[in-house]
Amino acid sequence: MKSRFPVFLALAILAIALQSHAQQAPDTLHAWTVAKGPAALQSWVNERLAAEKADLDKLLAIKGSRTVANTLRPFDDAQNELAVAVNNAFLLYSLADAAPMRDMGQKMSEVVSAANTDLALNQQVYQALAAIPLPADDPATRHYLEHTLLEYRLAGVDKDEETRKKIHALQDKIINLSLAFGRNLADGTLSVSATRAELEGLPDDYIARHKPNADGTYTLTTDSPDTNPVLDFGANAGLRLRMYQAYHGRAYPKNNDVLRELLIARQDLATILGYTHYADLATADQMIGSAANVQKLIDEVNAVSHPAARREYDELLAFAQKRQPDLKSITIADYRYWMEQYRRANLNFDAQSVRPYFPYAQVQTGILDTASRLFHVSFKPLKDAVVWDTSVDTFDVYDATATPGKLIGRIYLDMHPRDGKDKWFSSSPVVPGVRGRQLPEGMLVCNFSGGVGGDPGLMQYDEVVTFFHEFGHLMHNLLGSQGQWSGQGGFNVEGDFVEAPSQMLEEMFHSPAILQSFGKHYKTGEAIPSDLVARMNAGSAYGRARWLQNQLLYTSFSLQVHNRPTANIDFDALYQEDQKLFTDFSPVPGDHFSASFTHITGYASNYYTYVLDKVIAIDFFSHFDKNNLLEGPAAMRYRRAVLEPGATKPAADLVKDFLGRPQSISALERWMNEEFDTKPASPRQPQTASAPQRAE
Ligand SMILES: [Zn+2]
Repeated sequence: MKSRFPVFLALAILAIALQSHAQQAPDTLHAWTVAKGPAALQSWVNERLAAEKADLDKLLAIKGSRTVANTLRPFDDAQNELAVAVNNAFLLYSLADAAPMRDMGQKMSEVVSAANTDLALNQQVYQALAAIPLPADDPATRHYLEHTLLEYRLAGVDKDEETRKKIHALQDKIINLSLAFGRNLADGTLSVSATRAELEGLPDDYIARHKPNADGTYTLTTDSPDTNPVLDFGANAGLRLRMYQAYHGRAYPKNNDVLRELLIARQDLATILGYTHYADLATADQMIGSAANVQKLIDEVNAVSHPAARREYDELLAFAQKRQPDLKSITIADYRYWMEQYRRANLNFDAQSVRPYFPYAQVQTGILDTASRLFHVSFKPLKDAVVWDTSVDTFDVYDATATPGKLIGRIYLDMHPRDGKDKWFSSSPVVPGVRGRQLPEGMLVCNFSGGVGGDPGLMQYDEVVTFFHEFGHLMHNLLGSQGQWSGQGGFNVEGDFVEAPSQMLEEMFHSPAILQSFGKHYKTGEAIPSDLVARMNAGSAYGRARWLQNQLLYTSFSLQVHNRPTANIDFDALYQEDQKLFTDFSPVPGDHFSASFTHITGYASNYYTYVLDKVIAIDFFSHFDKNNLLEGPAAMRYRRAVLEPGATKPAADLVKDFLGRPQSISALERWMNEEFDTKPASPRQPQTASAPQRAE
């Protein structure tokens, strides 16, 4: 051991030397370390754009035959500059503390996106790429070239100049409107006033962190840590309704106008590119292949889940009517409350009872540990990393399959609400990876409880599930971005595969062994009892059919607004129609869902991604050994076959490589009907009563 010290010391000195060197050299990967104000951000982005132009000039200057080295490499370098620039601009648009910086982040996101569109419509670059002979001995590069050329054709590169100008203007408009939609939500936090009596049913720590106003009322906000407990636990129907309306109405009516303009621009773009509807264009390069196939998926999953969801509703209504005989129906604003009450009464599970075991800081450590064991990586905290907000935690990630551990990237966790910060839960790349040249970096943007002095940040179990979900994205991004091309990272895979690795990780949440490794009472340190885990699993399995129906509702809405003339769509009425089709819960007045449906900007018509990927994720998970989730052979096989390839092959091949066949809906069907044993499992028994392992 001792003989190692000089090596460590030498490395430490080297690290300090490198660090001080890095402080002098301009940081070309992280805008926030150099851009101390909006003007500095602008010049930082302009430097990236100048570098991109230099790469393209180099590419176009080549005389003679085109090769991967002389053409695809500078093309990928150019794409890399744009990706770094837009990731950073987007980061500061959604996360910077000062509004002027968020404004500049928004403006720069628009500028870089416009440069991206320039590149996507550049005929000379397209012709240069098309002239490269497809390499026979390098399938990843071959796929990169073929896929890039396909994207060029879908972008309209072969149209005449005037048409390309129109396409460009529409793409710019689409980006600008999408950013405006998100900004209206980030800046649109609303307050809901409640009397002390109306807070009945809410957890004590929730009430304790809200101080009463002089008149005795309480001010709640539409940020997630305030909203979710009201919808789940609040006994007062009036407060639940006001909170529900406020949450969906944060950016209403502003965002309805933005959405209409956005949909019109998308439809115009589809028309110019020769598609009847935008949904056809948006699915042309996806696994699903066409909008008609999306409808088929909706019908297929609906056939499986609708009868079960109807039964669940009838049971829930009958239950609620015993408590409240005058109740005619359960509304969309009330179902979470009644499901919670049902779980307490019939499944002996109270969602509040698990919160003390999930204080935020402990959950974060537990999820990092779980990911370490599952994916064979380790996380080293960087205490003095320069970040955009002091609350952000930074970790270097090492591959533990290499000896010594090999540095493979960096992650940033920005996990609690702030004024003006993006209000949703997401994972994004910060820096793309290029083997031997640039390590990938990714981040989580969440709005969980905690992060405030004195508040332990006790999490609800679905918040912990969300954390697992987002971490699945992060690992996919990191492990999948170790290849030779910047444009072939984990997140560059077909968009409708992106939710599979995240939803797969959600399933880990049910393992008692995993939960007990970090679910410890925040006051006593006692591990979450096995019988409580068993009841929690039974409780969270209740309502899966309803959950699927809800996903179909969003899927259908996102498809329908993209497959018909936009001008006359009444968003609220359409949403209510879809509610009738997919849920038995009754609509409430003043529900402006579409004005806060953030997926409509990023996923457009393709919300189906979640449903398709749930089918895939559950099928993936059925191949894990439930007795040995983390250390069993499936975990490493999954890392190698599904995550590590990134976008080096079509997603359908990733699925087949792991499953030995295409996905099938039968695993999802079993998952939906899964019944958990509410008695604690003995360690040697299967921990859940889930479907048996299927032989491949
Ligand atoms: Zn996701």
